Amino acid sequence: MKTIYFDYAATSPVRNEVFEEIKPYFSSFFGNPSSIYQLGQEAKQAIETARQTVARVLGGRTDEIFFTSCGSESDNWALRGVAEALQQKGNHIITTKIEHHAVLHTAQYLERHGFTVTYLDVDQDGLISLEELEKAITPKTILISVMAANNEIGTLQPLKEIGAIAKRHGVLFHTDAVQAVGHVPLDVEEMQIDLLSLSGHKLGAPKGIGALYIRKGTPIHPFLLGGGQEKKQRAGTENVASIVGLAKAMALAAEEMEEETARLTVLREKLINGLLEKIPHSQVNGHRTKRLPGNCNLSFAFVEGESILMLLDAAGIAASSGSACTSGSLDPSHVLLALGLSHELAHGSVRFTLGLGTTEEEVDYVLEVLPDIVARLREMSPLYEDFMKKTKEETV
Ligand SMILES: *Cc1c(COP(=O)(O)O)cnc(C)c1O
Repeated sequence: MKTIYFDYAATSPVRNEVFEEIKPYFSSFFGNPSSIYQLGQEAKQAIETARQTVARVLGGRTDEIFFTSCGSESDNWALRGVAEALQQKGNHIITTKIEHHAVLHTAQYLERHGFTVTYLDVDQDGLISLEELEKAITPKTILISVMAANNEIGTLQPLKEIGAIAKRHGVLFHTDAVQAVGHVPLDVEEMQIDLLSLSGHKLGAPKGIGALYIRKGTPIHPFLLGGGQEKKQRAGTENVASIVGLAKAMALAAEEMEEETARLTVLREKLINGLLEKIPHSQVNGHRTKRLPGNCNLSFAFVEGESILMLLDAAGIAASSGSACTSGSLDPSHVLLALGLSHELAHGSVRFTLGLGTTEEEVDYVLEVLPDIVARLREMSPLYEDFMKKTKEETV
């Protein structure tokens, strides 16, 4: 059975155009970019061309782009690198309760090493309050880290407003833009972003490649020590092929963004509205419009998300509950709890994320099979039985 893939926020297949572009860097152009002979210099040139492309897409300068091994590394580096560099100035960091674990666990690490962290609440749609953000800033605050787009619920934060607040108070602004890059417009100048994390595999480039944008002049310590690569800021022989692939994927995504956003938004709305209509006691999680074009996250009362996923899998559909990184754990999603969902509803959530390969037929197929799956599970659910009994008594 062919898998119908609805988990683009977990990872995406490498695009054909990207695959073709990077192939020669595994064979003909295999040189070490640090070598002085021709073969090495060709590899070096490929990296510098890629750096220009990434900088252009983000609106930054070429010397502000640093390649890393993944989005998680970029997040770790941004937080720890700035914290170390500025610890004489202050020890306070502001972030949110709904960040990816790459940010949250790094913030917790810093708390164990003398820093204090404010975790901002979000409203029921997943948006932070700008007033609360501004109120949280103290003379000791050195960094604000707020994600551009949430990986579970797709909510987009007001980056430009956050950037303006950070600037006004002389505080650095980092954003985990792993879900946003290639999917929604971003501009580090317009949004006054000082540090931005991105990852290749969420936009059609290979896994294991990422980048950190670092505004020129930003105080930051290196994270990986060793050789002098990446202007002595990030040691390790460069992943040349994947760097080339990342740049190619970002250039393509930028070109196609407007059209693809329009296409995916139509499909997303069809899926969300269709499911809400066909499945009683269901709700959307995340902001209804300030949302990634390809993100659908819904909760279905009285059933377990994990059970839904198993039956979807049996029907050939790959979706997820919470985020890929934490699935397998039985804790309810920290993001859904931060929205104010009960444990029960948080456990009953499913995320469908759409991408380049998603077709209307695939959306129709989910609309055809999911209502039956939920109905079947509810028939076996003691919670649902209780609920039905109660409503019967009330209507008698
Ligand atoms: C996937 C993801 C990451 C981690 O990126 P990797 O390249 O898989 O390490 C970080 N933040 C967000 C929001 C993500 O979706």
